[in-house]
Amino acid sequence: MKYFSKSNNRSRNLRPPDLYEYYVDNYWFKTVDLDNQKINQPLRGSHKADIVIVGGGFTGLSSAYHIKQKFPEKHIVLLEGACCGYGASGRNGGFCIATDLLGETGNVNPEVRQKNLEISFYGLNFIKRMISEHGVECDLEENGMLEVAFNEKHIRKLEEFQSWLNSFGLDSTLLQSEELRNEIRSSRFIAGLNNPHGAILNPAKLAREMKRVVEEVGVEVRERTVVTRITPGKTNLIDTELGDIRAPILVIALNAYAHKLGFFKDRVFPISVFQIATEPLNETQLESIGWGNRQGLSDMRTMFSYLILSRDSRIIMGGAGGFGYYDNDALCSGNDKSFTHSITKDLFTSFPQLEGLGIEHTWGGTTAYMLGDRSPSVGVMGDQKNIYYGVGLSEGVPTTQTFGRIIADLMAGESNEFTEHYVVNYPIAYAGPTSLRGVFGRGARWIWEKQDN
Ligand SMILES: Cc1cc2nc3c(=O)[nH]c(=O)nc-3n(C[C@H](O)[C@H](O)[C@H](O)COP(=O)(O)OP(=O)(O)OC[C@H]3O[C@@H](n4cnc5c(N)ncnc54)[C@H](O)[C@@H]3O)c2cc1C
Repeated sequence: MKYFSKSNNRSRNLRPPDLYEYYVDNYWFKTVDLDNQKINQPLRGSHKADIVIVGGGFTGLSSAYHIKQKFPEKHIVLLEGACCGYGASGRNGGFCIATDLLGETGNVNPEVRQKNLEISFYGLNFIKRMISEHGVECDLEENGMLEVAFNEKHIRKLEEFQSWLNSFGLDSTLLQSEELRNEIRSSRFIAGLNNPHGAILNPAKLAREMKRVVEEVGVEVRERTVVTRITPGKTNLIDTELGDIRAPILVIALNAYAHKLGFFKDRVFPISVFQIATEPLNETQLESIGWGNRQGLSDMRTMFSYLILSRDSRIIMGGAGGFGYYDNDALCSGNDKSFTHSITKDLFTSFPQLEGLGIEHTWGGTTAYMLGDRSPSVGVMGDQKNIYYGVGLSEGVPTTQTFGRIIADLMAGESNEFTEHYVVNYPIAYAGPTSLRGVFGRGARWIWEKQDN
């Protein structure tokens, strides 16, 4: 099987990082009071199911929901090593960018472009459906995105971005001088693009609420259930720390952790990304930066930063070069001070008027990076064509939701615009030998720093 290696199926450390260790200083976890949430009992003993989903992030949860809608009679079991939302899904920057799955304009004909629009917006629309149909509370604010330029090169990138959005019939507004200052006040920003197609949200709330919803529709969710080995076959055997379960159909929803079970090991780089949360801003501080429309704010550097305002007016910020590749076994999803310092420094470079504002939380998470054009991939693999997957999700808040829908459609054997979208079974570029990845990472960082200065 192309993306699976049995010899890799016994990693040095099978346990995902920090599982069971809830000390991670993640602001989003505090907002859901994770320490006091009900975490489901692990799977113990031997079991059978129709469908097993491994991973309780957005990909696993959305797959569980969509599959249950299509196959209400099937016994579906979701296995999560820690608790649902414990991976990137509950730790991210809270950006929900609706345009990520549009693809390149290139030779794409208008009909395909229209279909891509529907698919790309599906993730955000699905979250809105979760809110309206299932009462999910996740502080979603559909405020759009504001991308800012620090120099002339960035302005050209903004213009290119605007004409790309236009080619899909999507509106956006280029802002300069006074118009920009009405949106955000920073002497570092010389232009901006207001792109209304996106939202901000609290990702841990969304993940914990989606767990509730999938249980309500009849999916069995096992948390604290670390999968230790997968033996693919007509009936797949899934070993866990305390038991095992067999199922003819399997969904691998592990994104950056999949290599630990032998999947995508030579394709996906697990990288650690970091976030900070300030103390809540007071009225004077808010006044000094503007940002009354509370868009998701990011810039045009290769190593860009991204910021949102939380419901209680904290700045939640990531990026700014705050990422690292350790090695495949030593993922860092706690705190790495060198990275969180660089994010903090970048915050006060953009907003010196906030100097002195306290940083109350710093945390990290693990996400996927790939070579080539970095497109995520969703599809089905295995000699028996019974292992579904969604992987390579680096900006996955909405895309993971869409991948759940695509996985369910593929499982049902449907042929529609979702199953024919370019991401389906998209080939993932070979990532080179693991031993060279550290060198590659340092080299890429050096080049990107040069480009950004
Ligand atoms: C710090 C950070 C900031 C980000 N910011 C944004 C953003 O603002 N917007 C955006 O769109 N995207 C962002 N991303 C990316 C986004 O969060 C991911 O693309 C998305 O959450 C991936 O979801 P997933 O369900 O595929 O994977 P995950 O959420 O990582 O879920 C995988 C799950 O599998 C579990 N697991 C791992 N190994 C095992 C095992 N052996 N057995 C059982 N369970 C296991 C893990 O505990 C985890 O819960 C960010 C990511 C990070 C880390």
